[in-house]
Amino acid sequence: MYDVAIIGAGPAGSATAHYLAQRGVKVLLLDKADFPRDKTCGDGLTPRAVSVLHDMGLVEDLRRIGHVIRRFEVFAPNHRSTADTIAMSNDLPDFALVVPRLKLDDLLLRRAIRSGARFEPRAHVSAMRVEASNGAPHVEIAGERDGRRVAFRARLAVIATGANTGLLLRAGILRAQPRVIVAARAYFENVRELTDVWMLRFDGAPLPGYGWVFPIASDAANVGVGYFRHDRTASALGFFESFRRSPAMRRLLEGATQAGPARGYPLREDFLTSPTFGERALLVGEAAGLVNPLTGEGIDYALESGRIAAEHAFAMLAQDDFTPQRLAAYDQALRERFQALFEFCAWVRRWCAHPAALNALVALANRRHDLRRKLTQVVLGGAPVRRKLTAGRALRALLGWG
Ligand SMILES: Cc1cc2nc3c(=O)[nH]c(=O)nc-3n(C[C@H](O)[C@H](O)[C@H](O)COP(=O)(O)OP(=O)(O)OC[C@H]3O[C@@H](n4cnc5c(N)ncnc54)[C@H](O)[C@@H]3O)c2cc1C
Repeated sequence: MYDVAIIGAGPAGSATAHYLAQRGVKVLLLDKADFPRDKTCGDGLTPRAVSVLHDMGLVEDLRRIGHVIRRFEVFAPNHRSTADTIAMSNDLPDFALVVPRLKLDDLLLRRAIRSGARFEPRAHVSAMRVEASNGAPHVEIAGERDGRRVAFRARLAVIATGANTGLLLRAGILRAQPRVIVAARAYFENVRELTDVWMLRFDGAPLPGYGWVFPIASDAANVGVGYFRHDRTASALGFFESFRRSPAMRRLLEGATQAGPARGYPLREDFLTSPTFGERALLVGEAAGLVNPLTGEGIDYALESGRIAAEHAFAMLAQDDFTPQRLAAYDQALRERFQALFEFCAWVRRWCAHPAALNALVALANRRHDLRRKLTQVVLGGAPVRRKLTAGRALRALLGWG
């Protein structure tokens, strides 16, 4: 019997495993994949993510294997751009990183194992339910490993399965398939003129959505596009192709070679309406819909929610209290931390569907440094609002008037 079984060893699962195991909790971490494994992603680590990775003692390693980003540039649909250095509020670091997920997730997993978590690869979990043996309730986790049935027991489960909703639907925690947004990316080598800039492009990208160029080295980049309308017929790969062939990207990628195929993947960003716990189970990261609705970034919230879940799980285990009220306290902690920011970002996204509004915003940002700074902070996940949102308050917050 484990204290906690964590299903999914992405950033959310491995962070939860690390924070629990380092406090002496008996942790089992399960993943259907063998590691190192890739995950389709832009590979961007915002200052929010860097802050948790620093706390986990991983930033120096990541600086070595990744690329440090110190500036930020946004291109409007009319090709005009505005740029600024990264300067965050709230004690967040003044830089971002780009680290391929193949390396990042492996490093995080090894951190969790070093802290004492036991890892089982190739364990595909298909079901979980609460049972009682000798009057002691626990979670029974069932799945398949290398073609054979396997089962595990734990006092508490943490679900960290990302955008893959099969287990949440089967366990009855999600009642229906949530709506998703779509994104796709490919790696390019021999790219000229890459520096320490994180580039977001609304020119050549579908709206609401954007294209990105995130350098993974001085001559290589992760290039991708996200489309942020809930549209089942939207093709991420189709958007990627038209973004790649847009005039500005053709110029930027002249002489560059694509390394590997373009890959698309869905994103859940329904935290504002989705459950964050079930019976004896906490949901972390994208399994709780924790992806920024404006930017599609989710690694930062995966890591942060993992740390918050570990605190709550530790208290539950210590007090042997898994009541609905205790589980709801975890939900409340997530809402206090992320609700206002996500409402604000969802509001800004609606605005980003209009090319004229984006053109005007970039022009205004070029005249006003405070707005430029605010834009950078919003996009990198700095929390700009703390109160219940109204459209007027959101606009004032963005323009720095309140
Ligand atoms: C194209 C694209 C670009 C993106 N770019 C960025 C970016 O630049 N920056 C950023 O911060 N975010 C980005 N995101 C979002 C980010 O990738 C996710 O939000 C993040 O990976 C969520 O982390 P997680 O740990 O919750 O889930 P994941 O990283 O998805 O990990 C889930 C893990 O669970 C395992 N699993 C799933 N189901 C089961 C099961 N039944 N049994 C056992 N194991 C299971 C999977 O194998 C996987 O290892 C992007 C997403 C996409 C699609």
